[in-house]
Amino acid sequence: MTDINLTLKEVRRLAFDCLLANGCDQANAEAAADNITMAERDGYQSHGLFRLPAFVVSLRNGKVNGKAVPKIDTLAPGVIRINGDKGIVALAHQRSRKALINRAREQGIAIAALTDIFHMAALWPDVEPLAEQGLCAIAMTSSRSFVAPAGGVRPLFGTNPLAFAWPRKDAPPVVFDQAVSVMARGEVQIAARDDHALPAGVGLDAGGNPTTDPQAVLDGVMLPFGGYKGSSIALMVEMLAAGLIGQPFSPEISAASNNDGGPELGGQVIIALDPDRFGDKEGWRDHCESFFEEMLSQDGVRLPGQRRHAQRETALANGIEIPETLHKEILDLSSA
Ligand code: NDP
Repeated sequence: MTDINLTLKEVRRLAFDCLLANGCDQANAEAAADNITMAERDGYQSHGLFRLPAFVVSLRNGKVNGKAVPKIDTLAPGVIRINGDKGIVALAHQRSRKALINRAREQGIAIAALTDIFHMAALWPDVEPLAEQGLCAIAMTSSRSFVAPAGGVRPLFGTNPLAFAWPRKDAPPVVFDQAVSVMARGEVQIAARDDHALPAGVGLDAGGNPTTDPQAVLDGVMLPFGGYKGSSIALMVEMLAAGLIGQPFSPEISAASNNDGGPELGGQVIIALDPDRFGDKEGWRDHCESFFEEMLSQDGVRLPGQRRHAQRETALANGIEIPETLHKEILDLSSA
């Protein structure tokens, strides 16, 4: 497969033009293009331009509202709800971030319940900006049923990502962002596209047998990481990102799907905490830094997010590579 090199400015333009040509207004196209560009910049190809054709399908058939106007209301002093108006989630985040930060600073803790949104992106862009403002943040979202509960062989849970961000003293925040499945579905799709075998343990075929064939896993079921432990985290994400906020559980998302391959309507929860308000205002930064220092004193250990930040430096300097076929597909979608 031949790759072509794009600057990040070109990535954003490519995404923006395609979204605008397929039913997004300026604000929605800009927010989603920013999110896609961040994913490419930080080496998350599975949530970058690769996702654009799927968004286009759902914009064209009217499932996704390209002219969404997110609305914010207050449910309790520490709980805000953002109704995403059936749009791509990026704009809902942009429009509500300040309110969440302000509430967390006032209350010590605040929760954003995002409803009626289409989330098919990485979660770290939803929490990292909060940690850059000195807050700890935890985000979760459910998705279609793809993952078997521990012991089962049929899909139940979504790939249900969970992201956590912690502010640091003189360094970028520590951020982890991980699906509950052994591998993100986008990575399995990319392996199928590129005809690469998967590592063992990623999923089962439709007959419930272990397989390393990515297409067989896509047609069968994915497995949670760490067996019953990942399965329980998937359960927690279902409760918080769906049950708590009146949004569909993963099986309900699947049942309501038009199976167009695009994103699915659901919810997301973001919990923001202000460490200055938990009793160690003067000490927590140095205390946590000493912990990171001890962690990093072991050979072979790194903090989550470090690979992403290193990749960011490379992308800012040299741009990124995408398959020529994907580039052409996006240009065609932008002009059709
Ligand atoms: P990975 O397994 O690639 O990475 C998970 C996390 O672990 C990252 O934060 C990564 O940091 C960190 N990490 C990896 N290796 C190490 C290491 N050796 N030491 C310390 N930390 C490490 O992610 P997944 O495949 O589980 O998920 C990929 C993406 O898919 C996520 O962004 C997720 O949000 C997204 N997703 C979105 C869904 C949706 O519906 N919107 C559904 C499912 C997944 P680093 O980045 O620095 O490597």
